Amino acid sequence: DLSHDIILYLEGITVSFDGFRALNNLSLYVEAGELRCIIGPNGAGKTTMMDVITGKTRPDLGSAWFGQTVDLLTLTEPEIAEVGIGRKFQKPTVFSEHSVFENLELAMAGNKSVWRMLFAKMTPEQHLRIDEVLETIGLKDHRAARAGSLSHGQKQWLEIGMLLMQDPALLLVDEPVAGMTPQETERTAELLVSLAGKHSVVVVEHDMNFVRSIARTVTVLHQGSVLAEGSMEQVQNDPKVIEVYLGD
Ligand code: ADP
Repeated sequence: DLSHDIILYLEGITVSFDGFRALNNLSLYVEAGELRCIIGPNGAGKTTMMDVITGKTRPDLGSAWFGQTVDLLTLTEPEIAEVGIGRKFQKPTVFSEHSVFENLELAMAGNKSVWRMLFAKMTPEQHLRIDEVLETIGLKDHRAARAGSLSHGQKQWLEIGMLLMQDPALLLVDEPVAGMTPQETERTAELLVSLAGKHSVVVVEHDMNFVRSIARTVTVLHQGSVLAEGSMEQVQNDPKVIEVYLGD
């Protein structure tokens, strides 16, 4: 039984907005530890799919499971974050006036317990965890820097680090390299690749070179359904995919 290795099941998901089907019988399966890229033209349904996974949008039809036991369609948005699904939106939202270290500290406490965090002393384990994440995101030397003073790329990494403080099993990342320099893009590729295995990572991205550099499996969405799935090589030679992108 291979199904126990699947961390995310979406089956037959349909979402309608005033009769328009943003998602149309979408099925997607992501394996534990996988780094999956989702591509597709504007309006394909990528954002709506992420919204369904995180509970922001409820489908009209279909099922969505996290692992074997968690029915995502019964949970609220905060509950979904709590069970281990982290989402990074395109725009970084860090606490500009706080240091990099404090941002990670705040993220560890979670929004609810900011006050508790401010008055509590961190345990050595918590301190170690922040050091670990600083290392992972490459901001060790910037721990004391004001988050507002970081470059665009560094802010994005910090925000990924903030998500990591909750140790999510599944990380959803929306257009991570938009606006990044080539060097930042390369570093982001290394970062996301290094997270896979320990976490499952789903990335929505338009930059095809970036997708090529990180993904083993690429899913192409079109008109709310999966048009093609496979290696970058396979999908980019798929006549259906070529037609959709040439027509875009
Ligand atoms: P993508 O992220 O792939 O560009 P989206 O998921 O944002 O695609 O959108 C899919 C389709 O659903 C688009 O045609 C979009 O206009 C439509 N859509 C998305 N959200 C809404 C909404 N809240 N109300 C009406 N239409 C929406």
